[in-house]
Amino acid sequence: MRTGKNYLASLDDGRRVIVDGAPVDDVSSHPAFAPIAATIAELFDLAADPANGMQAPGPVTGEPVNRLYLPPRSPEDLRSWRTAAQVWADHTHGWVGRSPDHVGAFLAAFSAHPEAFGDEHGLRQNVLDFQRRVVENDLYVSYAIIPPQVSRATTAHAWEGDLVQVGVKEVRDDGIVVRGAQMLATGGAVADEILVSCIKPLQAEDQDFANSFTVPVNAPGLTLYCRRPYATATTSAFDYPLSARYDETDALLVFDDVFIPWKDVFVFKDVAGLRKQFFDTGAHALGNWQAQIRFATKLGFLAGIARKIAAVNGVDKFPGVVEKLGELASLVSVVRSGVLAAEYTAAPDDQGLLRPGGQALYGAMGLQAEVHPRVIGILRELAGGGVLQVPSSVAELVGATTRDDMERYVSSPGVDAVERVKLFKLAWDAVGSEFAGRHQQYELFYAGAPFVVKGYAFRNFDYSTPVRAVDAFLGSYGTEA
Ligand SMILES: Cc1cc2nc3c(=O)[nH]c(=O)nc-3n(C[C@H](O)[C@H](O)[C@H](O)COP(=O)(O)OP(=O)(O)OC[C@H]3O[C@@H](n4cnc5c(N)ncnc54)[C@H](O)[C@@H]3O)c2cc1C
Repeated sequence: MRTGKNYLASLDDGRRVIVDGAPVDDVSSHPAFAPIAATIAELFDLAADPANGMQAPGPVTGEPVNRLYLPPRSPEDLRSWRTAAQVWADHTHGWVGRSPDHVGAFLAAFSAHPEAFGDEHGLRQNVLDFQRRVVENDLYVSYAIIPPQVSRATTAHAWEGDLVQVGVKEVRDDGIVVRGAQMLATGGAVADEILVSCIKPLQAEDQDFANSFTVPVNAPGLTLYCRRPYATATTSAFDYPLSARYDETDALLVFDDVFIPWKDVFVFKDVAGLRKQFFDTGAHALGNWQAQIRFATKLGFLAGIARKIAAVNGVDKFPGVVEKLGELASLVSVVRSGVLAAEYTAAPDDQGLLRPGGQALYGAMGLQAEVHPRVIGILRELAGGGVLQVPSSVAELVGATTRDDMERYVSSPGVDAVERVKLFKLAWDAVGSEFAGRHQQYELFYAGAPFVVKGYAFRNFDYSTPVRAVDAFLGSYGTEA
């Protein structure tokens, strides 16, 4: 299987990634991207080590492959899939949202449902071939499946200017030429390939924009405009322990007449086909189950920081603080339970893919916009001014003229200054830094705006049973009672 070293070496491939107005030479050594690339490399090394239980026999060769790229087809598969996803989530403590298993899960479900794709231009076979390539080469695929925020009042066909949202400019015998932009490829700058599609509902007039294709990140004509990197703004890994390791890059993709061979096209000018790809295949459920495994892990980590802060500050026995820690425990447990309940209620679909149960999965997801800010809010409350009563950098902790003051005034009983400052700087990077702010936005939006995610919860909840129960109850008494 692919090792981290092999992955890092493959990144120097001429990809066009722009930061501060200039193209980046090699993402694997640039300070903005090297840290996250190194983290992803560690994930590949974990998967390549059989001791971590992430491997399964490949469907074609029987050689070991990453099971997270395969569709789970039995309860045992699904359990092993979850524990494999947990290995990666644990390694980043849930702070890497678009690790390779996220889109990997979408593609695994696509491959279980070739019938959801058309057969003109070999689209159906293209999906199968691509997923096989992902499995056999351990590819890291990210995705950009949202139109740029030009206007949400209308869809792409009504926007001023041709092909603002990425769409088909030319159809050729050997493929299509695409032009325009799509948001927001998290991890795109350090991925191998990007799945470009559209999950927001389109209208019949949007046919030119109703495509799904994959593109190598170094494709000629493709530019990635990354938002401001946070890793480069860190003074040290001690001062910003999360930003310094887990700053995933979010990028706007711009296609300047990029040629996409037919073999890389999955959906072509097919508005209904876009929806089928995500929802009829079970991809949305499997991919978002992975996301909830990651989310639960991150919440647990945040709760751990809160618990330690309460102990260090000596407040953890006060009833009000215990109540807050209890609320954190409840919030983490609800999400963990959603993950497990989705597994417990999973059912095989008509192609034998075992789909995590929608009610539990989307029920947990539907609360994400409330759960994440609440967990962050409690952590902020427990941290108080401690996250600001820290030296500007590690330099004061080690400097000959400053460290005595630190030791005397910035320590706690049984906890020296270095240990205390380390903990509070971690807390700040989780709740207050620019990285933390991006994470707040991420947890609110990565699976769609909150009203969209609650829509999934609504549609996956069986309202007919409770409504029948209410009707029966109302029918059991009258005005005479
Ligand atoms: C940090 C981060 C990382 C991301 N990573 C990825 C990624 O890797 N790949 C990817 O494809 N996407 C990614 N996204 C994009 C994400 O999928 C979108 O942000 C999400 O789908 C919401 O779409 P939007 O941002 O266009 O918000 P909009 O749809 O513009 O919504 C913004 C707000 O407008 C209001 N609104 C908009 N439309 C309606 C409506 N019809 N009815 C009522 N209210 C409405 C709501 O208040 C909503 O909250 C990421 C986003 C963030 C913030």
